[in-house]
Amino acid sequence: MQIVILGSGQDAGVPQISCNCSNCSQARKNPEAILLGPSIALLDSEKEYCYLIDASPDIKRQIELITEIIPKVKTQETIPISGIFLTHAHFGHVAGLWSLGKECIDTHGITIFCSAEMSEFLTNNHPFSHMLHRKNLILSDMKVNQKYPFEDFWITSFQVPHRDEYADTVGYVIERNKKLLYLPDLDSWTDDLIRLVESVDIALIDGSFYSKDELPGRDDVPHPPIKETMELLDPTKTEIYFTHFNHTNLILNRECKERKELLEKGFKIAVDGLKFNI
Ligand SMILES: [Zn+2]
Ligand SMILES: [Zn+2]
Ligand SMILES: [Zn+2]
Repeated sequence: MQIVILGSGQDAGVPQISCNCSNCSQARKNPEAILLGPSIALLDSEKEYCYLIDASPDIKRQIELITEIIPKVKTQETIPISGIFLTHAHFGHVAGLWSLGKECIDTHGITIFCSAEMSEFLTNNHPFSHMLHRKNLILSDMKVNQKYPFEDFWITSFQVPHRDEYADTVGYVIERNKKLLYLPDLDSWTDDLIRLVESVDIALIDGSFYSKDELPGRDDVPHPPIKETMELLDPTKTEIYFTHFNHTNLILNRECKERKELLEKGFKIAVDGLKFNI
C-alpha cells in the first residue's frame, strides 16, 4: 500500500490569505512552494481502496490528485474515497467534510472513523449533524489503542495532548510491512509519545513552527517547535519527517542554514505528493 502526503501545510496552508511574508510570496510565484492543508491518503490502486486521514479545506484539489493515482474505489460511486479517519476538530482537519455535502458532491455513506468525543461533536454541530442526518456521512467510533483491521493494513489511534476546545485529539499508526505514524498536531511531547515515535519505522510529526518566537503575541498556539523536538527524538531510530508547516516557518526557505542543519542531523521535511510504500 501507499501512503501519500496530500498536504504538508498547517490548517490554512501556504500561502495564507492576504499574507505577504516571504514564504507566502514565494508560494504565489512558484506553485511548487504551495502547501495544501494537512491530510494524507492510505491507498492501493490494485485493491481499489483509498482512505484519508483528515479532511482539509483543500480536499477538492486533493481528491483531484487522488483521482490521478486511483480513479475509483470499490465502496463508492461518487468519489474515490473509502472512508476518512479524523484526528481532531480544528478547521484544517474537518472543514473539507463540508465539501461532501448537498451543496457539493452529495456523497452517500462515507464512513468517518473517529474517537467517541469527536463523534459526539460531529453529531451535535452543523453542518456535520445535517450531513449525518442526510447520510452523506456515517460515523464509526474507534477506541484509542485498539488495533483495527482494514483491507490489508491495521490502524491504531492514540491520544494526543492538544488544545481540545471542541473534542479530543488522536494520532494514528498505520501498519502493514512497516509502521507509519501520523501526528500533525500536538501541544507538547510526552515520554509515551516519544517512545511511540521510536517504535515505528516512519513518523510524520508536527513541524508547525521552527522556534518559539515565530508568532509574536500568539502563545495560545502551543506546538512543540522543531528546534526543541530535534533534541528529543532520534532520527537514527526512526525516519522522521516534519509536516503541518505554518506559513511563518523559516524551514520552508530552501536556502536557510537551519534547513541545512535539520537535514544534516538526519531529520526530513515532508512535501505535498511525497509517497511511502509500507
Ligand atoms: Zn492542524
Ligand atoms: Zn505568510
Ligand atoms: Zn489542531
